[in-house]
Amino acid sequence: MPSPRTEALLQPLGDLGSLFERLNVRLVLTLASVVMVALLVSGVALSQILPGYFLDEAERRAETAAISTAILIQSVAEQLDITNRAILRTPELRNTQLLQPRAQQAANSLAQGTVEIQYENGPIAAVAPPGPAVSDRLRQQGFAPDPQVPAHTIRAPIPDGLGGNMILLFTVRDVYTNRVATLQRVNGTLFGATLAALAVSLAVGIIAARRLTGPLARLRRVSGRFAAGELDVRAPQFGIVEVDDLGQQFNVMADRLSESLRLLEADRNRLREFVADVSHELRTPIAALRTFTELQRDGEVGESQRREFLDRSTQQINRLEWMSTNLLDLSRIDAGIFPMDVRPGDLREPVRAVVEAHSEQADAAGVSLALQVPAEPVMLRFDRERVVQLLSNLVGNAVKFTQRGGEVVVDLVDRGDEAVLEVRDSGPGIPEQDLPLVFDRFFRGTNVGEARASGSGLGLAIARSIVEMHGGTIGVSSLLGRGATFTVRLPRERAEGQ
Ligand code: ADP
Repeated sequence: MPSPRTEALLQPLGDLGSLFERLNVRLVLTLASVVMVALLVSGVALSQILPGYFLDEAERRAETAAISTAILIQSVAEQLDITNRAILRTPELRNTQLLQPRAQQAANSLAQGTVEIQYENGPIAAVAPPGPAVSDRLRQQGFAPDPQVPAHTIRAPIPDGLGGNMILLFTVRDVYTNRVATLQRVNGTLFGATLAALAVSLAVGIIAARRLTGPLARLRRVSGRFAAGELDVRAPQFGIVEVDDLGQQFNVMADRLSESLRLLEADRNRLREFVADVSHELRTPIAALRTFTELQRDGEVGESQRREFLDRSTQQINRLEWMSTNLLDLSRIDAGIFPMDVRPGDLREPVRAVVEAHSEQADAAGVSLALQVPAEPVMLRFDRERVVQLLSNLVGNAVKFTQRGGEVVVDLVDRGDEAVLEVRDSGPGIPEQDLPLVFDRFFRGTNVGEARASGSGLGLAIARSIVEMHGGTIGVSSLLGRGATFTVRLPRERAEGQ
């Protein structure tokens, strides 16, 4: 564990570390280091090549100057008169007047360095560095005697005027070059270029990094706003393929997430409404039961009234029982654990059974209940118990809502790819504005009459779930005052494929 002191010391290093983890800093440094490496390589290459090149140049100049001086002396010797030839042949005479001016001339114009003429195995005949005027001019131009250029000597035969040759040595040394000055200039220029390239690469790097990290920063802000609850924000297009891909992925994720949140929210609201509805629905029969019980306990109640209270109490208890069964079914449907027992069978059979079961209720209500089924079996795969439940809800409603003297028709038709079941009644019908709502939970119509008040508003919701679990559809059409028609379509393929 580092002590607080060391931690404090390490802090700036940590900040520095995180600085190098930044993409834009890395980009700038990478670009700058690439430029530096390129410049370093070219600088090293130049510093290796240039000095050699200058030395070679100077050496060649020294060689050429030595040869040219020899040729000059040869041509001078050929034109000498007898006296001067004799002088030339005699080293002891030093030949000062004869060779020195030529040596000087060669030093000034040919060699730009010191020219030395020597008799082979004999004394030096002439030595001439460039004259003061020449050397001044050369120095002004940045030239200086270069000790690194090796002296160059050639042996040359010079006609001695007696038909033979004598050997003279022509040496050129201390050649003036601008090697050092040029190298200094080149190094200075390289250094300046390095600085300029570094500055340019830093500037370019910063701009490029901004271009790249700017969109990333915007993307980060967008996701931050999304995380803070702004579910509508989406990443824009930046014109950088990789960043746009990322943004698009973010948008897809955001779409899915907001959709899930929306569904969750809707679910939560539905659940809240459902619980409120359930408690509201339970309150009515419980309050009625309490009233009947209290009246019988406390009041002076006659026998006929007592019977009526007991009948009504039974009705309310039946309603509570019906509601609790339906609620249980609905919670199973919601939880996805509604047990289905799908088998092939003749759909006419449960239809007949339901109509049969309701005939007594229809008779009591003075409503005629008719059944129309095909002569041939309507073979389908279905859950018999659920189909009975579905039909009971539809037929039960039709009988319940139809007034005395009216009629209810249950009609089953085989359409080949589907079986169509219609429950028509001549009851009061359903107002147009209620039609989209009748399959909602706890919906009991806008004008709640006596028949409606006795319901729970759950029957059609369960009916729809049962139909959907068979892969079918359920719909309703109605004209106010002329009755209602519920149509259930159960597909054959889907059911058979199960
Ligand atoms: P309930 O148990 O109250 O009947 P349902 O879900 O079965 O609940 O029906 C919901 C509402 O739809 C009923 O309260 C009623 O207003 C309307 N409804 C259903 N069937 C019919 C029908 N055959 N004729 C007129 N109205 C109907």
